[in-house]
Amino acid sequence: MNIHEYQAKEILREYGVAVPDGNVCYNSASARDIAKRLGDGPWVIKAQIHAGGRGKGGGVKVVKTPREVRDVAREMIGMTLVTHQTGPEGKVVKRVLVEKGCNIANELYVSLLVDRATSKVTLMASTEGGMDIEEVAEKTPEKILMEPIDPLTGLTAFQCRKLAFKLGLEGKQVGQAVKLLTGLYEAFVGTDCALLEINPLVVTGAGDLMALDAKFGFDDNALFRHSKIRDLRDYDEEDHNEIEASQYDLSYISLDGNIGCLVNGAGLAMATMDIIKHSGGEPANFLDVGGGATIERVTEAFKIILSDAKVKGILVNIFGGIMKCDVIATGVIEAAKQVGLEVPLVVRLEGTNVEKGKKMLAESGLNIVAADGMADAAQKIVKAVAAA
Ligand code: ADP
Ligand code: MG
Repeated sequence: MNIHEYQAKEILREYGVAVPDGNVCYNSASARDIAKRLGDGPWVIKAQIHAGGRGKGGGVKVVKTPREVRDVAREMIGMTLVTHQTGPEGKVVKRVLVEKGCNIANELYVSLLVDRATSKVTLMASTEGGMDIEEVAEKTPEKILMEPIDPLTGLTAFQCRKLAFKLGLEGKQVGQAVKLLTGLYEAFVGTDCALLEINPLVVTGAGDLMALDAKFGFDDNALFRHSKIRDLRDYDEEDHNEIEASQYDLSYISLDGNIGCLVNGAGLAMATMDIIKHSGGEPANFLDVGGGATIERVTEAFKIILSDAKVKGILVNIFGGIMKCDVIATGVIEAAKQVGLEVPLVVRLEGTNVEKGKKMLAESGLNIVAADGMADAAQKIVKAVAAA
């Protein structure tokens, strides 16, 4: 789960990490009030969407008068912001953060993440702040500094100082770096993060360190013990179908292709996506209905796929082990009746009660193409979609 920048900064404040003063709002009049409360300008208006690259996309603006704060906030709220992370359709801005403008002398990068190679939380840093870090890592990997953290000792002051020197910090900044990095590490562990990124971490004109942007990614499997963080979830920022799916315990990920997939078991779902691609098609989603799905869950899964306008054909690929083929058949027929089936549907069933399931589908009156084996199924759906 992700949260907005202003929410991230509130958490950072609790952990003693220096961030600019500011507040979120939903309309331009409040934006101006916040600016006045913050004291003298300049101020920065920042679009709150769950995507980076806002600066380049026009979602971060520096302004000098309260009147400008109001005007820029008015423009920004309701606009569709397109950045390299939103995709071409962009995201509608519903809230903006108004914060104190900061005089920037230098922009750095720091993040904490779980490094699979060492199985440790790792502090990553670079002098190349404010840039696309993936690009820095690709073009100038020597500019990425890595500091693995021993879970028994936690991040030590010595490690923070070592990194601070490598980043070119000096004087009082070194002590500030220890406080800030320790705060970040405590926030990371304390909230069960998967990623915590500060880009940029700045040195201000007065020589102080401050986190100017903040991104948290939480480990979904630990959210049950963080009710305060769960409350920060913004459903507007998530894929509608993925939210629906999570309510029925379906593992669903929306993709860019046009062949909807309904599969049981994550391994079979991956293999199905592979074989669709191998046959020249593109999957529209990953969907694992699980081993012990009920008729209701299968129906919902099918409805979710059908509600996706990209979907031009559906492939149902089920191995009936715990899940019986007749249950799948009932779900498919039920959903198709409820929502109407207007795209080609290829079904490959195997396993428990397969004959019963196939018979039900054949007698349903629905336009279903039966397939034998995965390759046959994939070829049939790719062909049907191409012909449609
Ligand atoms: P994004 O990563 O989505 O582009 P950032 O929060 O990193 O958004 O802002 C982009 C750039 O805008 C920063 O690199 C920084 O140069 C500038 N910026 C952001 N917040 C402030 C601020 N409070 N004061 C001055 N400049 C800022
Ligand atoms: Mg940023």
